[in-house]
Amino acid sequence: MAVKQQDLLRDIQKCFIQLKVEENKTGTVSERDRNESINIGCTEFPDDSEEVSSILKAGWLEKTPPNSGVIYQRRWVQLDSEYLRYLQSPKEVYSKRMISLGCVDKVVAVGDLKFELHSQNRTFLFRADNIEEKKDWVCCLEKALSDYKNSESEPKNPFFKRGTVDLSFEGYLELMSPRIKVYTIISRDKLYLFKNREEYLHGVGVTDIDMRMARVKDGEKRSFTLTTPYRTFSFSAESESEKQRWCDSLNECVSRSLSCDGVCESLWRVASNQQCADCSASMPEWASINLCVLMCEKCAGVHRSLGQNVSKVRSLKLDERVWIDDLIRVFLQLGNAKANAFWAANIPPSESLSMDANDKHRLQHITAKYVHGKYRNYHTLYGQQEALNSALCKAVQSADLLETLTLLHCGADIKCHTGIPEFPTPLTLARRSGQSAQAELLTQNQNIEAESFESVVEDVSIQSYCGYLFKPASSSRPITEHKNKADFAKRWCCLEGGVFSYYKNDHSNNKCGGMKTSDIICLSATSPGNHVYEHTFEMYTEEGRGYLFGADDADTVRNWSKAISKAMLPPTLFDVCGPCDRLGRLRCVEGSHGIGWFCLSGFKLQVLLENTVQTIDLRKLFSLTLSDNDGSMVLVWRGGTLHLPTDRKPHFVGWQTCIQQKSGAGDQPLSHQQLTELDVPVTIDRCLDHVTLYGLLSPGIYRKSGIDSHITKLLERFHNDARSVSLSKSDISVDDVANTLKRFLREVKDGVLNGQDNAKSWLKAAGLEDKSERIYQYQNLLSNLPDVNRATLKALTHHLLSVQHLSDENQMTERNLGIVFGPTLFQSDGTDFKASQVVEELIQNYCSIFNVSESELQRQLNLTTVALNRHKSERPSSKTTSSIICAVYLERIEEGSEVLVQIGANMTAVELVSDVLDHKGVKLVNEDFWTCHDILEKGEMDRMLHNHEKVLPVYFSPGLQCLLVVKKNPYISSILKYLEMIENVCKSGTLRVCEVKSERSKNYCSRYCELSGTTFRLHKELQNSPCEREWPVKDLKVYNGYRSKLHSPTPWGITLVHDKQQWYLCCDNEDEFIEWMATFFSIQYDGDIWPSPLVMQSHNS
Ligand SMILES: [Zn+2]
Repeated sequence: MAVKQQDLLRDIQKCFIQLKVEENKTGTVSERDRNESINIGCTEFPDDSEEVSSILKAGWLEKTPPNSGVIYQRRWVQLDSEYLRYLQSPKEVYSKRMISLGCVDKVVAVGDLKFELHSQNRTFLFRADNIEEKKDWVCCLEKALSDYKNSESEPKNPFFKRGTVDLSFEGYLELMSPRIKVYTIISRDKLYLFKNREEYLHGVGVTDIDMRMARVKDGEKRSFTLTTPYRTFSFSAESESEKQRWCDSLNECVSRSLSCDGVCESLWRVASNQQCADCSASMPEWASINLCVLMCEKCAGVHRSLGQNVSKVRSLKLDERVWIDDLIRVFLQLGNAKANAFWAANIPPSESLSMDANDKHRLQHITAKYVHGKYRNYHTLYGQQEALNSALCKAVQSADLLETLTLLHCGADIKCHTGIPEFPTPLTLARRSGQSAQAELLTQNQNIEAESFESVVEDVSIQSYCGYLFKPASSSRPITEHKNKADFAKRWCCLEGGVFSYYKNDHSNNKCGGMKTSDIICLSATSPGNHVYEHTFEMYTEEGRGYLFGADDADTVRNWSKAISKAMLPPTLFDVCGPCDRLGRLRCVEGSHGIGWFCLSGFKLQVLLENTVQTIDLRKLFSLTLSDNDGSMVLVWRGGTLHLPTDRKPHFVGWQTCIQQKSGAGDQPLSHQQLTELDVPVTIDRCLDHVTLYGLLSPGIYRKSGIDSHITKLLERFHNDARSVSLSKSDISVDDVANTLKRFLREVKDGVLNGQDNAKSWLKAAGLEDKSERIYQYQNLLSNLPDVNRATLKALTHHLLSVQHLSDENQMTERNLGIVFGPTLFQSDGTDFKASQVVEELIQNYCSIFNVSESELQRQLNLTTVALNRHKSERPSSKTTSSIICAVYLERIEEGSEVLVQIGANMTAVELVSDVLDHKGVKLVNEDFWTCHDILEKGEMDRMLHNHEKVLPVYFSPGLQCLLVVKKNPYISSILKYLEMIENVCKSGTLRVCEVKSERSKNYCSRYCELSGTTFRLHKELQNSPCEREWPVKDLKVYNGYRSKLHSPTPWGITLVHDKQQWYLCCDNEDEFIEWMATFFSIQYDGDIWPSPLVMQSHNS
């Protein structure tokens, strides 16, 4: 709630601060992105070791030393499905030895406590602490061994399981400490170390290093290092050229392992997700998002063949946009293990599926598993419909996704009635309970129901559609040209089997023409009046041809449109789009396929990119740019950017015109204007803001007239493109703006009250004698207004209320405002005094009519006064200096920790810190480094303000919604220590870098980063390779932390903000993080990071 108050405060304050307001207001508070985010870090997992590795058994054992001496060594031994490893302790990450099960011939029990592993050339002897332990080990090993052999078929590599070996580089290297020669192999995303090549061939290794966590550093001469979060390995190659080849291969391995994008990385963190749910092939890259299993490419193919209504198959890599956080959460919480606990609870060994199975067997198994549910673990309530339904209603409110999955696939009705009127379905119930993963699971399964239902009902009626239409004779004249009735001929048209054809009549077999529906790129309902047939539609094909069809009535056109769009559109879009004016596909820069599907209906443009449908209200675009050169379009809205390259085909021009027309027009009624997120026309919003900023204290505001030519000119600019108008005090007087607003209201088509008839009802209501009856009628009339008109009237009345609130200064009382705005609002001549009365009463009864709480209003008005008085009492010499009251948080962002502080335009961070500490009575202790931070993304990103940095511009940063927090800085002392230690302030090295382009982009690449002089550079590869990007360090805002959506591989991240771009640098460990931060700070602040204690004291006293 504290944050909400903060928003409120800022809403009011934003009006009073004389800072440059950004032209395109990309981020007012109300537009703030409130998307819930999910932090996929290790904390998501209850027990890391259990969830992440597929260890079958682990424990302490004693083993004979290598030279078959008699003294046993105590080792931590781990068995997984492929290797037996032993480590110094359970805390170790890198083993001392790893023995492939592929080389073990048998396990032999020796005496009470001992057992041996026999391979062709060696015997490994272990001793357990007691008999039970020994038995258990032998048993586990035998099981693992037989599983291993069963999954194998000859020929095989003794070390790597068949199918997993993918050697890209191998050879000898010298490991520096201990100094030994090792035989080294790069395979997939790991580096494997062996004592020598013989041991590799015999299936015995030393350890493996996961390259996803590693960084390669070139060293002197023949040496190089491999740094992982746990250990640094130093190597020496046989020659310098050999070293170069190793470094190249290892770097390639790192980037290859990282190119696997965020979704894979996240999902594979659950051990069971590392194997195909059906055939156990490793690292499955496909998923069925309704059955909740991950699978390999082969199994995915089979799933797909079962149809979308059985299994919705999506790629982890290619369909990135499908993977919203909630869906990821479903797969993390369930995982293949849990999902299979339901789907594959009872698979007879004879029917199990191995990864080498042939296609027939695969199809049999997967059909039995999912279509027939042969192996599933039936719910105990199976068959009792009502009990299942009520169990489902209960489950969706809990965290138990497995229960929900089980119930859904054992017959519970996903659309059953919950019995609660407010939350009638399980889905609404899940949302009410905050179970977003449950809601996602239901959604994915609900669509299935809908799809399969539709495919039964509608396919019959719509897949084929026939009827008479009128078609102009083919000619070279463009179809957009006006046609007479004589130009049209009656044609029998058929849509069947993906082909649209037309014939002379319904018993003719000779086709006159037609096209495949897959070739249709655009379908458009023509606006009435263009042709003699009032109801027409156009179709455009891939090769650039246009077709026009006419009908006698609107229904015929509507039915044809529906049939054709069903045949044309991907089902994901067709299901949600409803009837529309224009639809089709266009090339676009965004999205991996470069093709988007679009449906335009009124002001609503729905876009299907990859697998996500987004809805854009064209009136609320931040900007729409049509290139003069080539006609390409760029749409920017709060959800992102869409870039449509030009297309010479005729359909593109149609799209341009439609999108432009629907993006708001100045000469249209209010609801057709360009709008803000709050549904207020941009023109009105801009004027209100300007008057609030500069006019509230101006005597006679709205009463005084402006200069006519200025008003006309400004209004014309608003008409042309309101979004592009920015008002500045120096260019235009506040009276001109006030009068522009009045003229706009007076002239806008239908007025704010939506037509003269409605206006009359308001006047009639004003004539009622009883006041409460009048108010009641106003409320009624208000609720009957269209949304945009209602929002506008509210914004306007609120504004007039603040003008009235300061009437001592500006002399504009309710009465005066009524006199001015009555005729304006009613678009009348002012003879009916009731118009003024309505305005007066709207102001007087603002709270009850617009349903605003009194206390909220009072708070707003008080702040207005405080801020304005301060504004007024500022030294007259410096007009630009103003001081406002801001909420600043102490230590954390929560209710109760905020402090209201007066912030003057020149206040520095260090002054703010001491003010806040003073306020809260916090004593300064020498070792404490208190600093002021600018916090973004609900605390995910945090930037320390330099002590001398001015606070106010930060608080009002355009486009960013930051909160100010004063807190102890845990890093400063390490940063200062580090800076003291080094001689030159510069830093370079390879980091994982991610350009934050959109909500979903989280592709990391390795980049060589260089911070020296005053510049930060990114190189594609090593230092000497050409620089990819560079920024002056002082232009960057350097944040500690990152948006959790990035699913960063480590917690030590730095986000660089430059204009609206963000770059994320991922450090491997804390030290590295501190070093980079220290270097950034030192360069940004010319080495002056922390003031001497004296400075601090003087501020605090
Ligand atoms: Zn598989």
